[in-house]
Amino acid sequence: MNSQTCDVVVVGAGNAALCAAIAAAEAGCKVVVVERAPVAESGGNSRYAAGAFRFTYSSAQDIIELVPDLTEQEIGSADFGSYSEQRYFDDLYRVTRYRCDPEMAEVLVAQSHDTMRWLRQKGVRFVPVWGRSAVKREGRFYFSGEITLDAWGGGEGLVAAQTRAALDLGVDIRYETAAIGLLQTEGRVSGLQLGSPQMGRYRIDCKAVVLACGGFEANPQWRARYLGPGWELAKVRGTRFNHGEGIQMALDVGAQSRGHWSACHSVCWDHNAPATGDLRVGDAFQKFSYPLGIMVNARGHRFVDEGEDLRIKTYSKMGQRILEQPEQFAWQVFDGKVIKLLRDEYRIRQVTRVRADTLQELAGKLEGVDPKGFLDEVARYNAAVQQVQPFDPQVKDGRATQGLTINKSNWAQTIDEPPFEAYQVGCGITFTFGGIAVQASNSQVIDRADLPIPGLYSAGEMVGGLFYFGYPGGSGLMAGAVFGRLAGRSAALQVC
Ligand SMILES: Cc1cc2nc3c(=O)[nH]c(=O)nc-3n(C[C@H](O)[C@H](O)[C@H](O)COP(=O)(O)OP(=O)(O)OC[C@H]3O[C@@H](n4cnc5c(N)ncnc54)[C@H](O)[C@@H]3O)c2cc1C
Repeated sequence: MNSQTCDVVVVGAGNAALCAAIAAAEAGCKVVVVERAPVAESGGNSRYAAGAFRFTYSSAQDIIELVPDLTEQEIGSADFGSYSEQRYFDDLYRVTRYRCDPEMAEVLVAQSHDTMRWLRQKGVRFVPVWGRSAVKREGRFYFSGEITLDAWGGGEGLVAAQTRAALDLGVDIRYETAAIGLLQTEGRVSGLQLGSPQMGRYRIDCKAVVLACGGFEANPQWRARYLGPGWELAKVRGTRFNHGEGIQMALDVGAQSRGHWSACHSVCWDHNAPATGDLRVGDAFQKFSYPLGIMVNARGHRFVDEGEDLRIKTYSKMGQRILEQPEQFAWQVFDGKVIKLLRDEYRIRQVTRVRADTLQELAGKLEGVDPKGFLDEVARYNAAVQQVQPFDPQVKDGRATQGLTINKSNWAQTIDEPPFEAYQVGCGITFTFGGIAVQASNSQVIDRADLPIPGLYSAGEMVGGLFYFGYPGGSGLMAGAVFGRLAGRSAALQVC
């Protein structure tokens, strides 16, 4: 078999992998990146991401330093607030129901701001999340601090900037090259078996390997096996290349598994979206305005409190709730009062939408739904809406229903004003939470006896232990960058 050598091989070309490659290369290592996807589809889920980062900061000045191209007018019209370490810990622990590994949480939170500065130095540009995150009142944008910056150009822009930085440092990126198995010499990882259409099978010898090649969300068999029956039917929001191969390779050399293997992040996603993500549409198949209306299943019944909390706190469990319904779909229903408030993703061409001037007409158009069940449900719902509190979509307005088996806790308005619109949604899986275990201090993979595996590091979605039940938005990319950089630096420290 053909063989080659380098210092560090990084598997994957998403956010975590590119951070690892950049960090190892800037420490003087000869780095090879191997990416299973062809260049047109490379970049993993990171490329599909909206691009939000969750990091600590204490003042507007911190934001201005990360976004030096902000205009005076933009600075003047924004209250950037702050995001303390304590709030980050609180959000992380609350969302993960206090399961999140404390050492990993410590590293993520403590290194988040410094990693943002490092990304900026490497050429990643950031922009405030004016539209999706800030609340606008009297011409001024108010940020809560949780999600203040996006990578410029979203996930596409992020991966493009990181790829440029890696190439500038001399990293050799090989597309359409799959890692097939780890090679070991006397207990230490010493190389990889690779495969590509051009080169066939070959090996590369190295001093360390960083696995950063994603979770198993694109593998229907593993989804059914680990997430449970029905999950093979979910649509994949991102890349088609994350099959858990990196996790399997690590397990094969004795890595310890860790994390919430039976859980994942999943959202409302167009029912007729393709099986895996489409970069031309990006995340616009998502349908996140459900708090403004109601969602009904094939029986025509509501099955969830659409207004339980702010959208950012509930969106990541909606995919699973829909998957649990008969026929695994739901229709989101809105009336004329709120149609103008629907998010931009409701206006794309590739959307499963029906419109009607009466509820009776709409009932006949909701494919797969019992019309009588639907009309009875809307009548019950309308009668239960309490009119006392004013409707305010910007905050939890407390405008609720009363007396229903499943009440709506906020933003409840009667559905009675034409025109009516409905959107069919299914479950879109974002990423999986189960993976392998690493030492938080240096991102080195640990074995089943809790000992570090010499020469093996890992980062990103394929590492377990940080996210359980859910994840606070923006912490996926942040964790990938923090632990990717750490893995690259640690590998370099060991070998170069
Ligand atoms: C639609 C969408 C929107 C999102 N928005 C956000 C957001 O705004 N903020 C946020 O924090 N998170 C977001 N996320 C989650 C975030 O994208 C992920 O947490 C993050 O991108 C994972 O990065 P990663 O580097 O671990 O994996 P990936 O970016 O998925 O990279 C894995 C790479 O490994 C490659 N690979 C797989 N197997 C092999 C193999 N055998 N050999 C070689 N290469 C291989 C893949 O081709 C891929 O390039 C979003 C996700 C999606 C899908």
